Amino acid sequence: MGKPTGFMEFERLAEANLPVAERLKNYKEFVLHLSDDQAKTQGARCMDCGIPFCTSGCPINNIIPDWNDLVYRGDWQNALDVLHSTNNFPEFTGRLCPAPCEAACTLNINNDAVGIKSIEHAIIDKGWENGWVVPQVNAKKTGKKIAVVGSGPAGLAAAQQLARAGHAVTVFEKNSRIGGLMRYGIPDFKMEKSHIDRRVTQMEAEGVTFKTSVFIGTDSDIGVNNMATTTITPEQLDKEFDAVILAGGAETPRDLPVPGRELTGIYPAMDFLPQQNRVNAGDALPEQIRATGKHVVVIGGGDTGSDCVGTSNRHGAASVTQFEVMPRPPEQENKSLVWPNWPMKLRTSSSHEEGANRDWSVSTKAFLGSNGKLEKLLCARVEFKEGKMVEVPGSEFEVKADLVFLAMGFVNPVQKVLDAFGVEKDGRNNVKATTEGANAYHTNLAKVFTAGDMRRGQSLIVWAIREGRQCARAVDEFLMGSSVLPR
Ligand SMILES: Cc1cc2nc3c(=O)[nH]c(=O)nc-3n(C[C@H](O)[C@H](O)[C@H](O)COP(=O)(O)OP(=O)(O)OC[C@H]3O[C@@H](n4cnc5c(N)ncnc54)[C@H](O)[C@@H]3O)c2cc1C
Ligand code: SF4
Repeated sequence: MGKPTGFMEFERLAEANLPVAERLKNYKEFVLHLSDDQAKTQGARCMDCGIPFCTSGCPINNIIPDWNDLVYRGDWQNALDVLHSTNNFPEFTGRLCPAPCEAACTLNINNDAVGIKSIEHAIIDKGWENGWVVPQVNAKKTGKKIAVVGSGPAGLAAAQQLARAGHAVTVFEKNSRIGGLMRYGIPDFKMEKSHIDRRVTQMEAEGVTFKTSVFIGTDSDIGVNNMATTTITPEQLDKEFDAVILAGGAETPRDLPVPGRELTGIYPAMDFLPQQNRVNAGDALPEQIRATGKHVVVIGGGDTGSDCVGTSNRHGAASVTQFEVMPRPPEQENKSLVWPNWPMKLRTSSSHEEGANRDWSVSTKAFLGSNGKLEKLLCARVEFKEGKMVEVPGSEFEVKADLVFLAMGFVNPVQKVLDAFGVEKDGRNNVKATTEGANAYHTNLAKVFTAGDMRRGQSLIVWAIREGRQCARAVDEFLMGSSVLPR
């Protein structure tokens, strides 16, 4: 603990954002990381409180008090080493993590939590700026070959860990670029893709082979945003590799099968968001869903919905409305009831700040239109009665809409891929595997492991990194009998 009185002397400082009018002009990141002095002061707020609830609140158990202290003392390089000891990709989490660590911070009980995520962001950006992030090549090779299916954060974390353990790792990706949902789902204004590219370069230097536009399965014509030009069957992988990790995410979107769903102008969010990222990356698309001048309604109040709001506003939508079926959460949680757990409370994202009419307890009953084209939504208010969601009588209303984005989450992985492998599924149709014990991350098939959203269902980047790392250790133990990789 660098400064025992820091938490009493200094207030929490949020990272600065570029003004809305400026950031709406493009798709670039607009969050400015803390300066060295600001990060030092924020690090001084950490009380190193003995039982680091932040560390257990963080899914990858980042050793937060240690790097807070090191940043306070100006020892950035050691702070980076400590950060990297638990997190392969702090530049992803430092930008995109919802920071459950901060909800668990002891200071959060009666004050503002330490700005952990902003310090993480500052450390890793400094690391890259100073050339401290370099390949960690293991000269001792094991001769074992591992295939990783999917290049999202789970697949990347697993691949990096296994390459560093000396294995020959090949990552197969059906899209034409690496990164999973971080590449094609998450808009550039939340994370520019150069961050993924430089990790790919690092991992290639560490010995990982990336094969893009390759679909693993039997029926190459399936899957979401499938850009594959080549298909490899599970049998071929089985012959060529000593172990396979399924890290293909949970790509099947939840639909809204109400009357009028067939009208044009209604799209799953993941039809819309990847197009803009591809255009930003220089791809020429035959046509693009554009929100310019349109009245847009986003159905679903989570991250994906918020990304549709931000992208629609950058297109220059005439209006953007976001509906959530659940009731409006409270502005402030009752900390004595929920701390150190993640609270249900109203969250206003940077995209919301850029402009959106948000409304809660709204259910969409039908899409209305003419000549096959969407014109409006028929909605109603809903409430919970005796544990059931019911329509409020007489509460129907209509909303004008030219475009609707469905952002109600993802139900499970693409089932045909799982069926092609013949893996056992759990009750939610994810790949079945535990995370503890001798069979951790191991499917029912001898050589096949799984990690990330494909195993746990739709989740977060930080959970995908955790699962990728832990799965890597399980695979290393399976192949070598023991492992020194951290869990
Ligand atoms: C729009 C959006 C915004 C989000 N925002 C955030 C956020 O701000 N913060 C956060 O923490 N989380 C966010 N998430 C969730 C987060 O992106 C995911 O939880 C995380 O990416 C899951 O990682 P993964 O590696 O398990 O799978 P994915 O990232 O889904 O990657 C799986 C990869 O596998 C590939 N693949 C699948 N099947 C095959 C096959 N048969 N052959 C070859 N390749 C295959 C896919 O093409 C994909 O590239 C967001 C999700 C979405 C959709
Ligand atoms: S990865 Fe997320 S939970 Fe962990 S320290 Fe960083 S911001 Fe907090």
